Amino acid sequence: MSIDFRYLIPEPIFNELIELSKQGHADDDKIVAGWIYADRKENFGIVKGYEVTKDPAKSHEKPKSWMRMKKRKLYQMRKLKDEDNIDIVWQFHTHPDSKEELHDMDLQILNYLSTGVMIVITPDNVLGWYFDKRETKKPIIDKMVFEIINE
Ligand SMILES: [Zn+2]
Repeated sequence: MSIDFRYLIPEPIFNELIELSKQGHADDDKIVAGWIYADRKENFGIVKGYEVTKDPAKSHEKPKSWMRMKKRKLYQMRKLKDEDNIDIVWQFHTHPDSKEELHDMDLQILNYLSTGVMIVITPDNVLGWYFDKRETKKPIIDKMVFEIINE
């Protein structure tokens, strides 16, 4: 995505996501994961909703099968886009320990997938990491900053 692409998130959704991370922090830093849906406009994406798919758990575990993890992700994303007409689908998980950077396991997963976006939700912030190593030796890793909007 180009540098002038903007990411917008309505305040109520931002607050709900932050709350998920805060609850996790109060509960032994349990992590929650799911999907974030967004509409694509000309030069920005605007978050429309989200879905929690993974119950709170200690996470950043190594996938049991890397190939299955990739297949399942691609299948789910295609299904959401085709059947529910969602423009943009991103995977998210919480970092209740407030760490905005990607965990080593997050990087290993992105590296296996070659490209993708990982949204990280801390008790204070929603941010994303865009990863792409399809055409470069060293992966491109860009931080996605979300602008909170009041609708
Ligand atoms: Zn992580």
